[in-house]
Amino acid sequence: MGKVDYLRLSVTDLCNLNCIYCTPLKKRQFLTHDEVLRYEEMARLIQLFVKAGIRKVRLTGGEPLIKKNIITLIRLLREINGLEEISMTSNGVLLFQLAPALKEAGLDRINVSLDTLKKERFRRITGMDCFDQVWQGIQKSLQINLKPLKLNIIPMRGINDDEIVDFARLTLEQGFIVRFIEFFHTNQRSKKLISSLIPSRETKNIIKSKLGELKPAEMPKGNGPAVYYQLKDAKGAIGFISGTTGNFCYSCNRIRLDCAGRISPCLFSGCLYDARPLIRGTQDDYRLLEDIKGILNIKPRHVKLNIKEPQIEMSSLGG
Ligand code: SAM
Repeated sequence: MGKVDYLRLSVTDLCNLNCIYCTPLKKRQFLTHDEVLRYEEMARLIQLFVKAGIRKVRLTGGEPLIKKNIITLIRLLREINGLEEISMTSNGVLLFQLAPALKEAGLDRINVSLDTLKKERFRRITGMDCFDQVWQGIQKSLQINLKPLKLNIIPMRGINDDEIVDFARLTLEQGFIVRFIEFFHTNQRSKKLISSLIPSRETKNIIKSKLGELKPAEMPKGNGPAVYYQLKDAKGAIGFISGTTGNFCYSCNRIRLDCAGRISPCLFSGCLYDARPLIRGTQDDYRLLEDIKGILNIKPRHVKLNIKEPQIEMSSLGG
């Protein structure tokens, strides 16, 4: 088990897309305004997490860029001593407008989730006609040096597998870091897609058969479980995240906090600690810090379970 130094903060349970593998079928009960932590409360919790050893925070959602005044939160986090990196995972729909302000506020880098390079297919996967917007946001981020920018793709059989090679090609000329994430079954809606899973091994073979050898790549030590390779003469790199066919529990260094103050030591264990009553019930940071240290210490016990009918709401917990 790696040292837990990376926290994913889901800042909202709302999203402006409706992706086929993520958003639940049934209309969800969204959190009320009062249930959601205020930015000051999030920042206070993060400050304590940093005291307990967290060094990197990734903002996710829902969709972090639809959260009102998200720039304010980034500024608050930037003031925390000891926090070395603030990054974000976004669908990129609002990136074009917000990229300069994000950079100015101190966001270090951004990952954009993008499952297709085709306009009409984007609409079918996400329910929204926003491909051009997302692509412009990506270009804008590169222009203003919000780098390295990583693209996250879930390759799915019969849905976008004919684009695996096109995505891999983006690493050649343009220097993108493209990461193929294995689909995993999270809720009732995603159940229908189980047969669409393409194991990383297969994605890798498809790329090799069309574009040649993939050499293991030296990447700056990242936060996650991705394993990186490079095509010959590529400026960028290709990563594989094998959450379904692989097992990276042994190296897991992350913990999750959602916008209602629930701490999840492991996505697969289903176990949540409710920190909101604590943060609202006491000004005593020492006590809160002891609780947080306790949660970080017991994380190793939360090993991946073989859950047959998982109910993980990625759309609110943030992947
Ligand atoms: N809205 C942001 C975005 O689109 O990146 C952040 C939240 S989204 C839930 C975070 C990541 O989870 C995305 O990269 C998405 O592709 C991934 N994700 C959601 N459902 C998934 C599933 N069933 N299997 C694998 N990855 C999933």
